[in-house]
Amino acid sequence: MKKYNLAIIGGGPAGMMAGIQASKNGAHVVLIEKNPYLGVKLLITGKGRCNITNAEEDLKKLIGVYGQNGKFLYSAINKLSNTDVINFFENGGVRTKVERGNRVFPVSDSSKDVLYILQKELKKNKVEVKLNSEVKEIINKDNSIQKIILKNGKEITADNYLITTGGKSYPGTGSTGDGYAWVKKLGHTVIDPCPALTPIIVKENTAKELEGLSLKNVEISIWDKKKLGSEFGEALFTGNGLSGPIILNLSKVVEKNGIKDLKLQIDFKPALDFPTLDKRIQKDFAEIKNKQFKNSLDKLMPKKLIPVIMKLSGIEETRKVNEITKIERKTLVKLLKEFELTITGLVGFEKAIITSGGVDIKEIDPKTCKSKIINNLYLAGEVLDIDGPTGGYNLQVAWSTGYLVGENIK
Ligand code: FAD
Repeated sequence: MKKYNLAIIGGGPAGMMAGIQASKNGAHVVLIEKNPYLGVKLLITGKGRCNITNAEEDLKKLIGVYGQNGKFLYSAINKLSNTDVINFFENGGVRTKVERGNRVFPVSDSSKDVLYILQKELKKNKVEVKLNSEVKEIINKDNSIQKIILKNGKEITADNYLITTGGKSYPGTGSTGDGYAWVKKLGHTVIDPCPALTPIIVKENTAKELEGLSLKNVEISIWDKKKLGSEFGEALFTGNGLSGPIILNLSKVVEKNGIKDLKLQIDFKPALDFPTLDKRIQKDFAEIKNKQFKNSLDKLMPKKLIPVIMKLSGIEETRKVNEITKIERKTLVKLLKEFELTITGLVGFEKAIITSGGVDIKEIDPKTCKSKIINNLYLAGEVLDIDGPTGGYNLQVAWSTGYLVGENIK
């Protein structure tokens, strides 16, 4: 039976990066993936554009976005920072660009280019890749892993083992949470995995009417009796609610506060306060005073939103704009500044971008990502109890922790 220095279970970003780095350091590496391809989830990241990392220059700030558990990442990000990740892909031939919120994408807007570089590096460094190979069992003796057994009965032995099986979100990509059960059996604690960064479901039918409408430069806030959180940026109406970067980030606020009695408020015009927006509408209406209300709103809002706002304003669509009263105009302003929807739920693992929870990082050495319980076991990527907001932060965890393991395997 062939013996490797490192056997990696899971061919996602963390596993691939670990494999490349370990083999560069001279290790004989096998990368085991149950899918017929590597990086299935990577390909759908950033809607197929792959938000590789976040270009925040202040590394303390970067680490701060992960909350309490972010401290675990100091060594990993020191070894492979966001700039190093950009350089890694640039050196491979993927030109990158920085978009709003410091989000880094390939200039080609194609995640395939990102995956191509990783595959090229795996090949160049002679990592043995086993596809269509599902790991079923890990055999442990005296706190050391002896071997792993595949679904087809084959066995693989190595000096060291790395679990990079990811979380439980988007299970169709292969990330079905297999790693959690194994590590529990090995004596590790798993913090209850929960879907995070998910779309929000609302009660009102308006979501259906507005399906497909994407919003730019809006502010969305979550309320019970007081404001619980707000975000500025892009969002998108889905059939039963909203999605998009700011909604995904706000889903954490919803989860934390319990769904009952929560409202979501959209400010379509955050750059204008109530009086300024009112003045702007007065000015617009003065220029087109004989036009009907239904033909007066094109400059103010996206086309798809017009019938919804008109209906909610209670102003008859055929009214001339110079007949609209001050009170009616104020209702219109309120709808544009405080468009309210009732939250009824969050979408689960099926459509969650990330899993919060995972292997308790207290039981992992942050300098190496090595288990403190099992002598020859490492863990990296989303399987760990670390998650960040949207913006390239979650892939950075996978790259940095994977790299750190690779650095520590000789
Ligand atoms: P994964 O990518 O989940 O890889 C785990 C691999 O392990 C899978 O290929 C799986 O098939 C394999 N595996 C599991 N069990 C077994 C087994 N028993 N045997 C063999 N193999 C197994 N993050 C960003 O930073 N930027 C983005 O733009 C972004 N967009 C996203 C969009 C979507 C729709 C989703 C779902 C996530 C997005 N993320 C994004 C999050 C990011 O994709 C993950 O954080 C990242 O993929 C985690 O990498 P990983 O290597 O830890 O795990």
